Amino acid sequence: MDPEISVVIPVYNEEESLPRLFAELYPVMEDIKRSYEIIFVNDGSHDKSFAMLYDFQKQHPHNVRFIDFNGNFGQHMAIMAAFSKVRGQFIITLDADLQNPPEEIPKLIKQMDDGHDVVGTRRKNRHDPLFRKVASKAVNNITNRITGLHINDYGCMLRGYNRRIVDIIAHSGESTTFIPALGQKYAVNPIEIFVAHREREYGTSKYSIFRLIRLNFDLMTSFSLSPLQWVTMSGIGISALSFLLVAYILIRRFIIGSEAQGLFTLMAIQFFLTGISIMSLGIIGEYIGRIYKQIQKRPRFVIKKIWEEENNDKQAD
Ligand code: UDP
Ligand code: MG
Repeated sequence: MDPEISVVIPVYNEEESLPRLFAELYPVMEDIKRSYEIIFVNDGSHDKSFAMLYDFQKQHPHNVRFIDFNGNFGQHMAIMAAFSKVRGQFIITLDADLQNPPEEIPKLIKQMDDGHDVVGTRRKNRHDPLFRKVASKAVNNITNRITGLHINDYGCMLRGYNRRIVDIIAHSGESTTFIPALGQKYAVNPIEIFVAHREREYGTSKYSIFRLIRLNFDLMTSFSLSPLQWVTMSGIGISALSFLLVAYILIRRFIIGSEAQGLFTLMAIQFFLTGISIMSLGIIGEYIGRIYKQIQKRPRFVIKKIWEEENNDKQAD
């Protein structure tokens, strides 16, 4: 029989965190007293994570399933793979690094029992480096503006989704995506609650600043065309201003004569405009890149094998 709750956890080189995750998660799930499964996705780890997940699955064959990827496809694709295999009606996503304490899971389940199809979360007293907190606040605001979504904390991955939403997400065909944003987009009755947040005690963040920026571009281009519209609008604005400037200089030339000064002003303006042009090309490029990836139709992730009760030896498709 299918379990009621599925917990989905992406894992990428988390050997330091996994023992404590197992130790904390298991009692929490047992205490809920409802049937559940835990689905780990090994996202191409090259430390001992695979062996640890393998052992844990063997110890708890009824409740634990484990999807092993053929390489590193990213956190969101790891979750996507699990979403395509879940059996529960309520699905909880959780990071492996224990920054989201498993004790908060019952809170999310309660909201889902109350009929919320997406339970978003915000990190209470977020424990991350200050610069990441400030940057992510700014990025959250910009992202909400661009995407038209209302999510206060895009980075908090301890979230709940009911099965209908998960099925919609799993069937979305985008080559790169951002799971919480998709959830929010299709939610009918979402809610956002505060959850505790801890410092990462073991291992290091798997996101470099460059990867975070990339993720955010993916998020924006996946949900909105407004950056392109800004490019067009700023082009129109700059052209209008330049036209006025040309008209002014032309008139001035007839009245006062030609001007030779102001070289550095001209350079400054030129640098500024060149900057805008390169940025605009970049924005257009982001969309072209998306189209390019999309038309390649390569698999978004490749599963090497699924370890689970019925088919511990079955090769995955
Ligand atoms: N993760 C993953 N694949 C990746 C990067 C991260 O599966 O390519 C997992 C990672 O193991 C963790 C979660 O995604 O369970 C969040 O990663 P991390 O804690 O490094 O992100 P942060 O909390 O710093 O945003
Ligand atoms: Mg983390």
